Amino acid sequence: MSILITHGKIVTASEIFEGDVYIEGEQVVAIGKNLPYQADWVINATDKLVFPGGIDLHVHLSLPFMGTFSSDDYTTGTRAALFGGTTSVIDFIIQTQGDTLHNALKTWQEKSIGKAIGDYSYHMAVTDFNAEVAKEVVDFIEKEGITSFKTFMAYKGALMIDDGQMVQLMQVLKEHGGMITVHATNGDMIDSLIAQHRSEGKLSPLYHYLSQPEVTEAEASARFCDMLYYTGCPGYIVHMTCEGALNAVRKATQRNQKVYVETCSQYLMLDASLYEQNFEGAKWVMSPPLRQKKDQAALWAGIQQGLVHAVGTDHCPFMWEQKKMGLNDFSKIPNGHPAIEHRMEFMFSEGVLKGHISLEKYVELTSANAAKIFGMYPRKGTIAPGSDADIVIFDPHKKHTISAASHHMNVDYSAYEGWEVTGKVETVLLRGNVAIENNDCHLEAGFGKFIPRNKATMHF
Ligand SMILES: [Zn+2]
Repeated sequence: MSILITHGKIVTASEIFEGDVYIEGEQVVAIGKNLPYQADWVINATDKLVFPGGIDLHVHLSLPFMGTFSSDDYTTGTRAALFGGTTSVIDFIIQTQGDTLHNALKTWQEKSIGKAIGDYSYHMAVTDFNAEVAKEVVDFIEKEGITSFKTFMAYKGALMIDDGQMVQLMQVLKEHGGMITVHATNGDMIDSLIAQHRSEGKLSPLYHYLSQPEVTEAEASARFCDMLYYTGCPGYIVHMTCEGALNAVRKATQRNQKVYVETCSQYLMLDASLYEQNFEGAKWVMSPPLRQKKDQAALWAGIQQGLVHAVGTDHCPFMWEQKKMGLNDFSKIPNGHPAIEHRMEFMFSEGVLKGHISLEKYVELTSANAAKIFGMYPRKGTIAPGSDADIVIFDPHKKHTISAASHHMNVDYSAYEGWEVTGKVETVLLRGNVAIENNDCHLEAGFGKFIPRNKATMHF
């Protein structure tokens, strides 16, 4: 099938161009003014933006966590993502401590193959590092197309590796062209604060926030940067929330390091005052927690200064019944909130329209840099001849309101109920196929493909 998109305002990370896009099969063939092609289907994009399909590089679908599972699976999660203009996601495979990476990969393949509607890839979370795992890591990079490895500096006894293992993993990745990524918070300090608050009977969601103060993230981010400096390994900090952590990265740049940084839309939009209501605050219990207004300002500045490279969601939804597991104890509330569907519209409405970022920067943050950092560029993350035709046609003027009644994520509340957004995803193409049109999803479970990734392109 061929598609011609005409008279759109085409936006990539590097330019804005008024014209047409011609697609044949799964790929973009040509971009230009008044293209001379006959297509099976013509989409008139006058007054619309045309930009690359979003890449959400931080999601958790069917994640086993705290004795339950996140409520979106690969079908509902990637479908909701498509409704919001996100055509690819990167999920996290979690190694079980004491077990192999390959067994974990098998488990995640069972969750995804034949079930995903949108495209996907995996980061591999290494929770137990030793000589055998080191060999598997090399295998993953060379044979499986999985080139990024997540580590946790928190959750001791379940997910955390110690600093010695971290440095050893970095050495292996440096040698073989992998990327290390990190959940950078000081786990020991947080565990002790949680225990202290519980023993004092301080059990409301507010104490989730107070158990993870900014310094726990700033300290771990600095320690991670120091280990990167020592090993020379390329590194990426996931879900950065605060000024202190950003300053640690800023300091690393003074000794000529480049550390990649992700934040998530919620840390740019919401703040910790939401925890001051009783159990309602559980909607936003996530780790790290929401921070202060001054941290939002720091993150927007970090984006403008090129210190923050990508915006994900850390999408990890739980039904209200699941959240209620922690009704009488904040430490039992499953961590995470639903956002996979809204990131592209939020970043446009809150970022572009409020003057924080340009349209080119918008594409950089929502797709292009994700593809570059994680080895999918230029197949994904741009509109260019030869790229996958993952394209969003976006009405920049249409206003709408976020609500659980109208979202497509499999979760019975919205963390943004009543939020007014300007700009709406209208049509979404995934590899040249119509995914979303007229508020309907046209693709079925199994359409989504695993995207094997190259080694990171470190220079951009
Ligand atoms: Zn996460």
